[in-house]
Formats: sequence, C-alpha cells, structure tokens
Amino acid sequence: MSNSEVIRLQMFSEWPFREDCQCTPELMAKAGFAHCPSENEPEVACCFYCLRELEGWEPEDNPWSEHAKCSPNCAFLCMKKTFDKLTAIEYFQLEQEWLRILVSYIIVSPAVQSSLRDGSRLV
Ligand SMILES: [Zn+2]
Repeated sequence: MSNSEVIRLQMFSEWPFREDCQCTPELMAKAGFAHCPSENEPEVACCFYCLRELEGWEPEDNPWSEHAKCSPNCAFLCMKKTFDKLTAIEYFQLEQEWLRILVSYIIVSPAVQSSLRDGSRLV
C-alpha cells in the first residue's frame, strides 16, 4: 500500500459503506478516492488525481468502474502499476500531468475567479 493510499484510507473514517459493500473504505482508497463530505452531501468521494467528485454512492457500486465512468482519462486510473513500481520518468510524467490538472482546477474555482475580479487576496 502506498503512502497516499494509507492517507486516503484514513479519510474514510466516517464512510457509511463497510461490510458487504463493493465500495468499502479499502476499495475506495485503492481506486484513488478520498472521502470529502460536505454538510449537504455526506457521501462525496473525490479522486486525488483527477479531482473528480462523485456522489450518490450505493453499496453495490464498484469504485473502479464508477471512476472509469466519470473520468475515463484519469492518468491514475490508466496507470498499470502502483506508485511504488513506477520508474522515475513515469513518476515525473504523472506529476507533470497532475500539476496541469491542478492548475486548471484552481483557475476555474469560484474563489479564484472572484478574487481575480475584485482584486482581493486569497487567504
Ligand atoms: Zn481520477
């Protein structure tokens, strides 16, 4: 288990789907998800890599196929190896791609947009 998988698994402490489910915390973390609940949506999971959020989980949902449905081009999903098996070049390529996703995510975020509009500083 990679470090990032361990961290994601810890984030699922309040996750409701446990025994007899396809989407247990262990399987969710392995498929790249972290639990990121909000007050109105307690069962939201987000891919740490493509940052896609998925809600409305059912006990029989398979995290890998749900991930593939919502984000078929996610590089984490398409990766054939676990992080600890990557070569240095593969790791840096993934990291570069991830930074591209992160920057485009930040640019479209409402907080950044309004800050750009009114000139205030982000906290
Ligand atoms: Zn993803």
